[in-house]
Amino acid sequence: MPSDPIPIPDPSPERRVFTNRTLNMRSIKAIGYDMDYTLTQYHAEAWEERAFAHARDRLAALGWPVEALEFDATTISRGLVMDLECGNLVKATRFGWVIRAMHGTAFLDYQELRRTYAGTLVDLSEDRYVFLNTLFSLSEASLFAQCVDLLDDGLLPSGVGHSEIFAAVRASVDGAHRDGTLKADVLADPERYIALDGDIVASLLDQQHAGKRLMLITNSEWSFANAMMTYTFDPFLPEGQTWRDLFGTVIVSAAKPDFFTSSNALYKVVDEDRGLLEPHHGSIEKGGVFYGGNARLVEEYLGLSGDQILYVGDHLYGDVHFSKALLRWRTALILQELELEVRALQGFLSTQQRLGALMEEKEALEARLSALRLASLRERDGYAPPMIDVPDVTAAITETRNEVLALDDVIAPYAIEAGHLRSESWGLMMRAGADKSLLARQVERYADIYTSRVSNLLYPGPYAMFRIGRLDLPHDPT
Ligand code: IMP
Ligand code: MG
Repeated sequence: MPSDPIPIPDPSPERRVFTNRTLNMRSIKAIGYDMDYTLTQYHAEAWEERAFAHARDRLAALGWPVEALEFDATTISRGLVMDLECGNLVKATRFGWVIRAMHGTAFLDYQELRRTYAGTLVDLSEDRYVFLNTLFSLSEASLFAQCVDLLDDGLLPSGVGHSEIFAAVRASVDGAHRDGTLKADVLADPERYIALDGDIVASLLDQQHAGKRLMLITNSEWSFANAMMTYTFDPFLPEGQTWRDLFGTVIVSAAKPDFFTSSNALYKVVDEDRGLLEPHHGSIEKGGVFYGGNARLVEEYLGLSGDQILYVGDHLYGDVHFSKALLRWRTALILQELELEVRALQGFLSTQQRLGALMEEKEALEARLSALRLASLRERDGYAPPMIDVPDVTAAITETRNEVLALDDVIAPYAIEAGHLRSESWGLMMRAGADKSLLARQVERYADIYTSRVSNLLYPGPYAMFRIGRLDLPHDPT
């Protein structure tokens, strides 16, 4: 029997840490952190609106008539897939079935959806599909969708098709991130773009004092990373400390996901004020700021095996896919939108229970209908006696069918409401109808744990045991 209960901090449901694979934080000796959308949290809509504007200007410079286009956050969601063959944005189940699709910015109706995707499964290894891995993908997808509308209206240069639109949009978003203008906007008005959260610093201090070696491994360049970390961390640290005191090692311009697979060379930032680099042969050193490099160098430096290292990031492909699949690091995924998702689910809980009860009723009616149809068949052909004894099978079939139809009328509004939770356009990001979404499948494959923000680690703390409960299987007794 457990001893007397001691109250422990219990966060609200949307701030919990969720477990896909059991993870004992006491066996974790080092934690690598991604920066953008992980340690530093952004107001995604404001940031993506800026990214969109810069990318749009670049397309305008090519002569594309895009001046009037505006970022629309309501029609885009992480985990959707761009279908470059059709110019669509689609939501798929864990098996790749497409359950909702938008061509340009117009949603396909049921018949169009069936016509386009009846025989097609979304396979992310095909070049045709581009998965929206991170919140940084939202501006790109919004711009792609709106340019497809322009193409359909005959307004884009001849020779441009969906793939060319994607290539041009990708290049302009990429350019906006790389040329410094977007980041200059963010740094000039940080309150507009950055959400401060002192609990992140508190949770990292707990980890540091519990003996874990903390590292920053970011794709951002040194000047931006330094400015961001100073702005978001330093005000919350004990007097006299800076963010550099928290992280034994800093790696910038890491080029993830290549970082996890390549043997990229390591450079040292030798002049931190001017960002001057020198090639660095030999091992990573404590306290230094490094540029590039690769994950093997990190393992060598730490002297740890993969399962003693936890990597925390927001990018499904760049942060957790390869670190898990190739290096067997333990992984934590930060999904900022999870808070809205869990809140929507909480608000829908009583309706969901009612919906569940109605679906059980429907299953029972369908089972009865099926048995009656078989009884009718056996009665008609006489090859075997009916398994149920019903005086008038035909009447019973009609009656049961009508009951199913009446029940469908009751269920429909609840089912529609369930399909529009969190996002009117796309519904819940982790669900696709009654099934898991493709995003949920990616999350369960690559993230050992997932949560909405790093500061949620504060509640379970650095000694936590994240344990997977027993999973229900279809054949489990109920
Ligand atoms: P991290 O999340 O800390 O690894 O850093 C992400 C970095 O990648 C940020 O500096 C972003 O500005 C940058 N980034 C995001 N998307 C793109 C892109 O399409 N091209 C180049 N850089 C990007
Ligand atoms: Mg990131």
